[in-house]
Amino acid sequence: MESPDWTSDTVDPDQPSAARMYDYYLGGSHNFASDRELARQVLELFPDGPLLAQANRGFLHRGVRYLQSRGIRQFLDLGSGIPTAGNVHEVAPDATVVYVDIDPVAVAHSEAILADVDRAGIVHADIRRPADVLTDPVTRELLDFSQPIGLLMVAVLHFVDTDAEAARITAAFRDAIPAGSGLVLAHGTMEGRPEEVKRIEELYQRSANPTTTRSRSQIAGLLDGWELVEPGLTWVVRWRPDWPDDVAYDPSWCGNYGAVGWKR
Ligand code: SAM
Repeated sequence: MESPDWTSDTVDPDQPSAARMYDYYLGGSHNFASDRELARQVLELFPDGPLLAQANRGFLHRGVRYLQSRGIRQFLDLGSGIPTAGNVHEVAPDATVVYVDIDPVAVAHSEAILADVDRAGIVHADIRRPADVLTDPVTRELLDFSQPIGLLMVAVLHFVDTDAEAARITAAFRDAIPAGSGLVLAHGTMEGRPEEVKRIEELYQRSANPTTTRSRSQIAGLLDGWELVEPGLTWVVRWRPDWPDDVAYDPSWCGNYGAVGWKR
């Protein structure tokens, strides 16, 4: 059978990936049987998984719009995922965007949808090697490091296994961008539903991207050097919801903390 044009020769279709499972939760079609099988096991534990993915995307969009409304015109989106509805260059139509992902399907599909978009590009890299991202020709061509940059680390650092490693990565990107730059960060947590999340972490061990959720205080430890805007580090559904009644349920349901801040 011919491979779909959004995959690549380096992809093992039998090894589930976080990017393709997330695509499945969001109702996308860029996933394989192995991804759907593991994702369905996750959804047995978290039947509201698709809503959680949408809540995460909603936070990303509000964070990007906030930074854009304060003058940010370029974004570095780390762990950008398989393009779906409301990609950053669509939410911020005046901005330049560099997407970065480790997943070959995310990269191949991003290349396809960005082929005719001059002001956005994709870098195939591992964010655990910040220099690879920062020196990539696409990054250097599109981003002006003398001007503020919106750094997006949304639902990606829980794929980094130790606190020290996650802190090293956030510090490396923070130090590479100028004062006046902004941050949008979201990170999965075991707080709220610890038993279910523990089982989900066990399931993700079978994927190419094992997960390490963190407590609120561990996540706060990754925000060194950023001045957070109100309401600070909080459940993503609590971060400036578009409508107050967006959060009519227990917000810990979303399993995901988020924050937006500035580098002073
Ligand atoms: N940021 C998007 C969002 O919030 O909608 C996508 C989040 S998705 C849950 C996580 C993405 O991070 C996946 O596409 C995965 O491939 C990517 N990822 C995981 N570890 C990574 C790494 N070390 N370097 C680059 N990307 C990574």
